[in-house]
Amino acid sequence: IFSSMDKEDIEKLKKAGRIAAQALEYGKSLIKKDASLLDVVEKTEEKVFELGGKLAFPVQISCNHIAAHYCPDEDDKTVFSDQVVSLDVGVHIDGFIGDNAVTVDLSGKHEDLVKASREALENAIKTIKVGVTLGEVGKVIQGTIQKYGFAPVRNLSGHGLGKYEQHTKPSIPNFDNRDNTKIEKGMVFAIEPFASTGAGIVQDSGTPTVFSLENKKPVRNAITRQVLKEIESYDNLPFTTRWLTNKFGVKAKFALREMEQLGMLHSYAPLADKDKGLISQAEHTVLIDDDGKVIVLTNQKME
Ligand code: MN
Ligand code: MN
Repeated sequence: IFSSMDKEDIEKLKKAGRIAAQALEYGKSLIKKDASLLDVVEKTEEKVFELGGKLAFPVQISCNHIAAHYCPDEDDKTVFSDQVVSLDVGVHIDGFIGDNAVTVDLSGKHEDLVKASREALENAIKTIKVGVTLGEVGKVIQGTIQKYGFAPVRNLSGHGLGKYEQHTKPSIPNFDNRDNTKIEKGMVFAIEPFASTGAGIVQDSGTPTVFSLENKKPVRNAITRQVLKEIESYDNLPFTTRWLTNKFGVKAKFALREMEQLGMLHSYAPLADKDKGLISQAEHTVLIDDDGKVIVLTNQKME
């Protein structure tokens, strides 16, 4: 919660939201049969810089039963064919973050799954106002997704966004968890419904490529020191292996391993549906301003 928002800070939030939305739209347009996942991610990241933003986290593309946190390494050979593809883009301006995501169905068979999370997001946004409880927002998300015959993913949620903080309070549930916390002026949060054809519970699956620096410790190895210095320039926001291997070569992986062993890093493994259900995601960032007005920062047309 930003108490009594500075005008300048609100402008930064709005700018981050606009750039995040533009980069998402651009990245979405690149998701096509035979395109490479790595290429789409790198072009979308470049777009963010071109537009004057910085990455709040690495661009992520999660396919089929993966809900989140898939980020390709420099040698990733994944090519799009008929997947259900979720693209997630986060941008910051001086630490003020806009976070948004969209799902594209390349199979032509899962349009309803895409609609379920998108409509859940729209309905949640319509519900939001000062005084409404977070449980009520979750109930709307759950109801919309279940109406389509799918399961909301219960152990993923929307989240507050702080300055240089990608995940903070409040947590916005994707089901009716009866949270009585009320929406207040000055809140900035991402709402992100996920719809699943399977369990609606996700679990760690595969090797993490997304990390954040959790505990800084002294390191001796020269390459590890260089890599650590680079990581510190990310201002405690998440980063990916590929950024480091692009800069330092594959030896960056040894440095990362060393830091992991020292307990310096938090790792974000890809999250997959427990029953391998297909998953769609939709996400916007909203601000409740000092007048109680709801501003959809990643879709400023929706204000
Ligand atoms: Mn996101
Ligand atoms: Mn998010």
